[in-house]
Amino acid sequence: MAVQKVFPLSCTVQHYAWGKMGSSSEVARLLASSDPQAQISEDKPYAELWMGSHPRGDAKILDNRISQKTLGQWISENQDCLGSKVKETFNGKLPFLFKVLSVETALSIQAHPNKELAEKLHLQAPQHYPDANHKPEMAIALTSFQGLCGFRPIEEIVTFLTKVPEFQFLIGDNAAAQLKQSSNSDSQSASSALQSCFSHLMKSEKKVVVEQLNLLVKRISQQVAAGNNMEDIYGELLLQLHQQYPGDIGCFAIYFLNLLTLKPGEAMFLEANVPHAYLKGDCVECMACSDNTVRAGLTPKFIDVPTLCEMLSYIPSKDRLFLPTRSQEDPYLSIYNPPVPDFAVMKIEVPGSITEYKVLAVDSASILLVVQGRVTASSPTAQTPIPLQRGGVLFVGANESVSLKLTVPDDLLMFRACCLL
Ligand SMILES: [Zn+2]
Repeated sequence: MAVQKVFPLSCTVQHYAWGKMGSSSEVARLLASSDPQAQISEDKPYAELWMGSHPRGDAKILDNRISQKTLGQWISENQDCLGSKVKETFNGKLPFLFKVLSVETALSIQAHPNKELAEKLHLQAPQHYPDANHKPEMAIALTSFQGLCGFRPIEEIVTFLTKVPEFQFLIGDNAAAQLKQSSNSDSQSASSALQSCFSHLMKSEKKVVVEQLNLLVKRISQQVAAGNNMEDIYGELLLQLHQQYPGDIGCFAIYFLNLLTLKPGEAMFLEANVPHAYLKGDCVECMACSDNTVRAGLTPKFIDVPTLCEMLSYIPSKDRLFLPTRSQEDPYLSIYNPPVPDFAVMKIEVPGSITEYKVLAVDSASILLVVQGRVTASSPTAQTPIPLQRGGVLFVGANESVSLKLTVPDDLLMFRACCLL
């Protein structure tokens, strides 16, 4: 009998403290929709849904005719289903982890090392850097999703230096003057001026940071109370971050990094060494399998300021949206294909007027998440059709085609993670 290469998964929820609570969380809502037996606790955060074979959240296989219990076990015994190139390139492992995130309070300011640095950090400090792999990430908004990503254009940072004296105080007059001059010079000197300013800020004495932040918070609060608009210096966001992380140096990062509010379907790609932070909202996220994160603020976790200041790409740019391409073969398919081998994400939007849709076969194992709509899936190796509704997750082996029958006249929205080598 042929190996069954398409099956539904039950995925792991991570209840990290920064997650949205109860049914306000998209993670919880997807879970409740796909599993009628799931009990959602309104006083518990539902931060992440892990769709993959990571040892800390290996998905369970929802088909008792399959002898393996988890996706990780199944893949290790059915390696050809990864796809020939994927199997060879990634040593028989699924190279990506696919997630849904529901963020209530900001995640730390962070960046992820490239492969070379990851190997070095892992060797030097395995307790903080648990593996030797890089960790590129991509976030695609499901609801309005706010985050910080990459350095702002120099002119914007210079404007904040003028408008926020507390910010300039921490950076120091010399570094600030250097940055102001660099806006008319070559990109090399702009980068080094930016590095100098950012490093000065991050290396400020804790006591001084707290003093300056308190001054700024007081000033903004008084202005807001007097009915003045402080949005030119992101007054509301600063107060909100300070409330979440009082006295944290990361609050000032909003003046260095681009603030993005993604609309549903818009994406940001976080390549190695790009500073970023997720602030609020729901998204799907795909990443290379790794845990290596260098943090510098908005966190109670281990922070490594020297490594972060050294590794970052100090490239100012406003242009941070990552755009998908429309498929030539399938009018309902858009592909977010970042410049890394580890993963790509497809967005599939089928109007409810269509009754049958064929998911393209690719030479890679893939994971399909239904965000909206209801279908039954069938494939040559599946013995019976698989019903899937909102929140349903399907594993699809390499080169397997899947037919979907839309069972309600609602538009269908799905995301599919795979590896396009
Ligand atoms: Zn990250």
